[in-house]
Amino acid sequence: MIYTQLTVIGGGAAGMFAAATAAEAGLKVILLEKNARCGRKIALTGKGRCNLTNTKPWEEFATHIHPKNVFLKNAFYAMSNIKVMEFFERIGLPLTVERGDRVFPQSMRAQDVTDALLAYLKNLGVKVITEAEVDSISKTEGDLEGTSLFSVVDKKGRSYASQSVIIATGGLSYPVTGSTGDGYRFAREFGHKVTGCFPSLTAVVPTSYSQQYHGISLKNVELTLFVNGDEVMSQFGDLDFTNGGIEGPIGFKISRKAVYNLINGQKVSVKLDLKPAVTLEQLAGRIKREIDQMAPALKSRLNTEGVKAISSILLPKLMPKALIAPFVAANNGITVATLPQKLKNWSFPISSYVGYERCVVTAGGVSLSEISQKTMESKFHKGLYFAGEVIDLDGDTGGYNLQIAFSTAALAAVSAAKAIL
Ligand SMILES: Cc1cc2nc3c(=O)[nH]c(=O)nc-3n(C[C@H](O)[C@H](O)[C@H](O)COP(=O)(O)OP(=O)(O)OC[C@H]3O[C@@H](n4cnc5c(N)ncnc54)[C@H](O)[C@@H]3O)c2cc1C
Repeated sequence: MIYTQLTVIGGGAAGMFAAATAAEAGLKVILLEKNARCGRKIALTGKGRCNLTNTKPWEEFATHIHPKNVFLKNAFYAMSNIKVMEFFERIGLPLTVERGDRVFPQSMRAQDVTDALLAYLKNLGVKVITEAEVDSISKTEGDLEGTSLFSVVDKKGRSYASQSVIIATGGLSYPVTGSTGDGYRFAREFGHKVTGCFPSLTAVVPTSYSQQYHGISLKNVELTLFVNGDEVMSQFGDLDFTNGGIEGPIGFKISRKAVYNLINGQKVSVKLDLKPAVTLEQLAGRIKREIDQMAPALKSRLNTEGVKAISSILLPKLMPKALIAPFVAANNGITVATLPQKLKNWSFPISSYVGYERCVVTAGGVSLSEISQKTMESKFHKGLYFAGEVIDLDGDTGGYNLQIAFSTAALAAVSAAKAIL
């Protein structure tokens, strides 16, 4: 049995940050990670560059947090995006801010984030134990002074006793990185509710989606989500058609509501506006001008050859070449007159989505109503804390999810230190 003041379970973003903050505050800390190394998911973040936070002020930042951003407010102020940036600069990781207020390491190497955290943990004397997959957590009854201890046992049968535990085991997304939902089991065993989890920031798959689409990227388009025919939300920006389905920045943004509604049996569709910067009339005017400037032979082909001529003469001026074939296949009966309407209202019924194996984040988790938002402590068990994706909190793309991990981790760690020291 190893005794310590705080055991942190999970060596991801939240776990490493919690261990560092707790050790800075003066606690003796053990960090247990089931993989052979910490931070496997961090290495994948931001396409290998790690978008570690976003500089937006709270009022704007909060609009990117779900399902209840007010829960994060105390944690955010305890360890704000600006404080996170100061922290990383202080431990030797220079940062840079890019388009959309997104923060990255200057080196553009996600691995540097983990390396900096691990080096700092070593300096602070945190005992990091890898290949330590926690199997169970239990709490002993308090002694005469009311002090109780947590007993954490790993799959190799080793046990760790501590006054506090922070569960930072992540969610269910990208299970190959070690996030397999163990924290939900631990939470349930302590009597906590886990709200329905589902994949978010993931590809949505249109009905009859074909290989023709794979690899096409669109800039400055608009995607509108419909549920049972009602417009739910619209997003403007960039979109990717991948082998998974529709994703990229605006695909991800609509995915949370799309997946939620698909799971609940609702009819989901999206409308793609390829020319959102102009009205239907302006687009019709632009197409007319293009035709007016054409040689007479081309004009007459447009009149006589129909879709074939539209595809070869007009569409190359209006969309990426690779998109022409799927656009024509999906939109029956295109004529010069109906083209503006089709370009602005390309509808895709959505039949499914890409699951946890490839989604960025898990929506749902340990219920917010049973965790104190002032401390991240369980409302049922003194000394038990939650941090990171295991909590029912998730963000949009743009550095919000890692900031959730850092803020909740720091607040849990400082709260544990206050209670113990
Ligand atoms: C491909 C991809 C790209 C992303 N890009 C970004 C981005 O650029 N910016 C951003 O803000 N967010 C991004 N995210 C989301 C972000 O990475 C996560 O929200 C964040 O890492 C969650 O941190 P966490 O520490 O709570 O959980 P995790 O990172 O999942 O860490 C949990 C850790 O706990 C360990 N563990 C689990 N069970 C046990 C157990 N029983 N015993 C011991 N250890 C255990 C796991 O092995 C893991 O190391 C991305 C996610 C993915 C999948």
